[in-house]
Amino acid sequence: MKFATLFVLGLLLATALLCEGQSQGGKTKTKSKSKNKTKPTVAPQVEKQLLLKAEPCSPAKCKLPDCRCSDATLPKPKFKGKEQEIPQFVTITFDDAVNAVNYAQYELLFNGLVNPDGCPATGTFFVSHEYTDYVRVNALYNAGHEIALHSVTHGDGTDYWREADVETIEREFGAQLQMLEAFAKVDPKRVHGMRLPFLQISGNNSFEAIKNLGLTYDSSWPTQQHKSPAMWPYTLDFLSIQDCQIGPCPDAALPGVWVNPMVTWTDTEGYSCSMIDACAYPPADDVDALFEWMLENFNRHYKGNRAPFGMYLHAAWFSRGRNYFGAFKKFMQHLTTYPDVYMTSVSRMLEYVRKPVLGRPFKSCEKTPNTTCQPVHCNVQKISTAEARYMSVCDKCPTVYPWLNNPLGQDM
Ligand SMILES: [Zn+2]
Repeated sequence: MKFATLFVLGLLLATALLCEGQSQGGKTKTKSKSKNKTKPTVAPQVEKQLLLKAEPCSPAKCKLPDCRCSDATLPKPKFKGKEQEIPQFVTITFDDAVNAVNYAQYELLFNGLVNPDGCPATGTFFVSHEYTDYVRVNALYNAGHEIALHSVTHGDGTDYWREADVETIEREFGAQLQMLEAFAKVDPKRVHGMRLPFLQISGNNSFEAIKNLGLTYDSSWPTQQHKSPAMWPYTLDFLSIQDCQIGPCPDAALPGVWVNPMVTWTDTEGYSCSMIDACAYPPADDVDALFEWMLENFNRHYKGNRAPFGMYLHAAWFSRGRNYFGAFKKFMQHLTTYPDVYMTSVSRMLEYVRKPVLGRPFKSCEKTPNTTCQPVHCNVQKISTAEARYMSVCDKCPTVYPWLNNPLGQDM
């Protein structure tokens, strides 16, 4: 009896000490800052701050350029009645590895297309590492396209991403950022966004990782309920009203993190699809039928509240039918005939959303980077599987095939 009492007391004491340690851990960030500014005294995992639950958004508290409520259906309330003067953005994005074959298609699609302000039409490339040709990535980058992140490994299914903690997401996307800098000469300061593989977010974790990585936006979250009027990008300072199609979705206040919602398309049977290639019932393989279908989806935005129109896909879609590429190209060319339609990267469109105006959206064109890339072709080994991998990079070959734990492919 006596022993049992002692045991219980001991347990209580141990629990109390443990809780104390934890609650202190949550507060150490401010303490250590005030005590010692130059050298952090605690391990990074102890520094983690608890997230606050997001509150419903109030326009009085949430103001542009850094805060935007998810339920705001126009760039500014005073644009009501002047919807026709809001510039229509079209954001064309491609996911996964960039290679010689799809690069040729990207070139054919964008080559020579100009927006009404005389600036070249551009898109966003969410690049994953495996099989990516970094020399081609550099070419897209120099042509003014946005290079964004899509992870190193791409994972092997949705479970990996659904259960990913902040550290895993940071490692996957942080390593991809390092690779883009080392092998494609992409300036990390010009990388702003990411898309999760399989569009599988993991609640607050994905968005916390975005903040930690110094990125601005995520574009992985589809909406089916907010397509008419369509949803505009917004920040996570306050609670989102967006429908959660592939959860878990965030519920914490994450100030300054932007969501570029993937406003779904409607296929010929009325089903919603977050990416064009995910539409189960596309029209027949015919240029006019495909073109008309794209136009119908576009008009929901153009004749509505002018929310950015996303054309999200994988280049592999072009091989599904004889006329898919031709129809897509025809539609892009058609877009250049409007006086108020702008094909830009997601990050350029977000610049507009922060400082919206009627009429012409920007005062000048974006400065394109002007990097030099000496292409080298490397035959390196992927350590985990002992496979040989060919890799094209700028300037200098890595020693081994770069991977998550060794993003620069150095001799270990
Ligand atoms: Zn992907």
